[in-house]
Order: sequence, then C-alpha cells, then structure tokens
Amino acid sequence: MRFGWTVAAPARHSVSVLALLALLAGWLAGVPAWAGTIRDIRVSGNAITLRFDDSVADASAFVLDAPRRIAIDLGGAVPGPPARASGGAVEGVRQGARDGGARVVLDLARPAIVTEGRFGDDGRTLTLALRTVDDATFARAASERRLQFLPPFNYLAPPARHAYSVAMPVPPPAKAPPLPDISGDPSRPLVVIDAGHGGHDPGALSPDGTLREKDLTLKVAKAIRDELLASGRVRVAMTRDDDRFLILQDRYGIARRLGASLFISIHCDSAGNPDASGATVYTLSEVASDKEAARLAARENKADVLAGVDLGDASPDISSILIDLTQRETMNTSASFARLLGREAKPLIPTKAAFHRMASLMVLKAPDMPSILFETGYISNQRDADFLNSRAGREKVAESVRRAVTVHFATRMAAR
Ligand code: ZN
Repeated sequence: MRFGWTVAAPARHSVSVLALLALLAGWLAGVPAWAGTIRDIRVSGNAITLRFDDSVADASAFVLDAPRRIAIDLGGAVPGPPARASGGAVEGVRQGARDGGARVVLDLARPAIVTEGRFGDDGRTLTLALRTVDDATFARAASERRLQFLPPFNYLAPPARHAYSVAMPVPPPAKAPPLPDISGDPSRPLVVIDAGHGGHDPGALSPDGTLREKDLTLKVAKAIRDELLASGRVRVAMTRDDDRFLILQDRYGIARRLGASLFISIHCDSAGNPDASGATVYTLSEVASDKEAARLAARENKADVLAGVDLGDASPDISSILIDLTQRETMNTSASFARLLGREAKPLIPTKAAFHRMASLMVLKAPDMPSILFETGYISNQRDADFLNSRAGREKVAESVRRAVTVHFATRMAAR
C-alpha cells in the first residue's frame, strides 16, 4: 500500500481509521518515530499553509497534468487527519503516505504553479505561494519544475544572512555532538575531514571480508590530516578520529559549527562487479549525473535513517531548482575543487576516467560550505582495497588532496 489516500470524509470513525492506516503506512515505510505528522492544511487565496506537529526533513513541489494537480512531497512526514481545504485555484486536498514521508496533492480547478515556499523558523510550518498561469506555462512547468524547500538550521543559530532558508533538519541542540579539536596555525583556513561510516555502520566490505570501509576511511582520513598539517597551509579537524557512529547531518554540522572553509568526506566505493576500480569525487546535485551516481547516493544516504531526499522516483527529466544563491555558489566552489582534485589525483592514484560526478548526497548538503565526497577507490576491488590499506597508497591519496587544497586556497586568496 504505497498510496493510502486520506480525503475528507463525513463519518467520524472512518476518519480515524483512515488516519490510523495512513500513520501505519508511514511507519511501515520506515519513517522515523519523531517524524512530523501533518496537522493542518489551509488554503487562503494563493497561499497554502501546512502545519506539522514536529519538524520534517524537507519538501518539494511539482505540478502534474491530466488532471491538473500540484504534488508536495514531504520527507520524514506522516499523513495526518483528512483536511477539507479549498479556495483560489485549489478545489480539493488529498494526502497519503509514500516511501520516506507523505505526499499532499492539491487538485486544481484551474492551472496554477508553486512560485515560492518557505518553512517557518521552527520547521513546523510550510507556506507555499501559488500563481494562476496560462495553459502553456502550466504544461511547461509540468514537464520540468520541481522546487525544493528545506527547513532552517535551527540549532546552529547562525545570523540570518540569506533571503531564503535552505538547510537541512538537524537534531536539537542537546543532541549536537561535542566539537573536535582543531590542529594547525590559527591564521589558516580550516579543512574538516570526515571519515565515512563508523561504529555500528561498517560501510562496505572487501571481497575477502577482512577490510571494512569504516576502518579504511579512518586510516585514509588520518593520512590526509597529517599531510595537510605538515604542509602548514591549513588547519585541520576530523569529524571522528576513532570508531564511532555519527549521523550524516552531524558530520557536516560539526564542520559548519567550526566554521570550516572546506569539507572533505572520505569513502570507499563498492560494486557488484569486482573489476570496478578507481577513485571518484562527488559534489552535490539534486539530480544524479548517472545511474551509478544515483545508486551510490542511495547507498551512502542509507547510513542515516533521517535521510530526507528520495531520488528513487524522481523521473530523470525533472530538474530541480535550488533557490538559494549561496548554495549555488557553494556548489560551484565544490565543483571547482573537485576538478582540481581530479587534476592532482590522476598522476598519483588509480582513478576512474569520469572522475567528477554529481549526486544528491546528504553529507554534502551544507548550504554555505564547499563540500566533496571522495570515493578513494573500490573496497570491492582487491587491488584498490590493498592500495588503500597500504601506507604508501594512503600517502599518495593524501598527497593528491594536499596538492589540490594548496592550489584551492591559494587561488581563492589571490582572487580576494
Ligand atoms: Zn561509504
């Protein structure tokens, strides 16, 4: 039962049964226990307001033709009691559970699109602005637009610098992990190295089962830290320097709280084909660069039950629009660092021909901090695994990062 629609129904008992079914459907779909339930949906002129009893992961909206409707996908949300709302272009509202959250559908009396949306400061309300449009505009929107809205970073309490809030849900302040130590010259920019996986999450395994991704990533991360510190060009902190589990948001959350200028998450790839080998680097995009990138994102995001963005059923022709210009600039900076890393890594370590790829990776979602995910090689390939498990191999990986980091900051300094 992927879509258990709840619609406004007159009989009281059937309402509660439907709501219970919807709750159950959401629960079975793996929605975390704290997920916000949709409490209320209101239509007032061109504004649609959704209220939740707790924060939700994210929201995206897109339009569908024949019949005309607007779908709002809410990551980490649970459908609530049926809402009887209409007005303006909206003639009715339905809601149902879907994988990882809820979908609200606005049935339209006339063509309209979502032009804007924002979460309230506490992440518990989402207000969307609709605009009535002509048939041609609607048809165009139906084929291409998916707008994404993210709740604000509450626990960081940063100064409100942006016109839009684009950020991800994070645990409340009490749960924020302690900040790690920073090493190096205080006048230098800070690079945060994130060793992927850890604790109860081993990541992928080598073919003979003796190597775990979480151990290799930590060894490689430490080699990179040492190499960067030896260069004297940057300060370095690590999200973890022992075998512990961190949720994905905490990984970039730590880096943001420290004010990092660059975030590097270290992983090892894995594939069914044991011959697949070579390093790749990923930067953030809502649309994966290819099928393999989408699969990788699905795998890496699974480390975190709070994973909010579901690329699974986003059709390839739906491109998304990230509304925050800061995030756009951050993505550009991340991509240029990824290209630099490719240039420096290719002579030193085995790399894939298509080195720089893009995917919707949760760990890269800080809106204002350039971030990359470095798949340093395939743990599923014995040669790559042995390379990464050797001191000499790790030193080569570290050298490629050090070279790229040095050029990256030198260029940025010069540009200032
Ligand atoms: Zn991984």
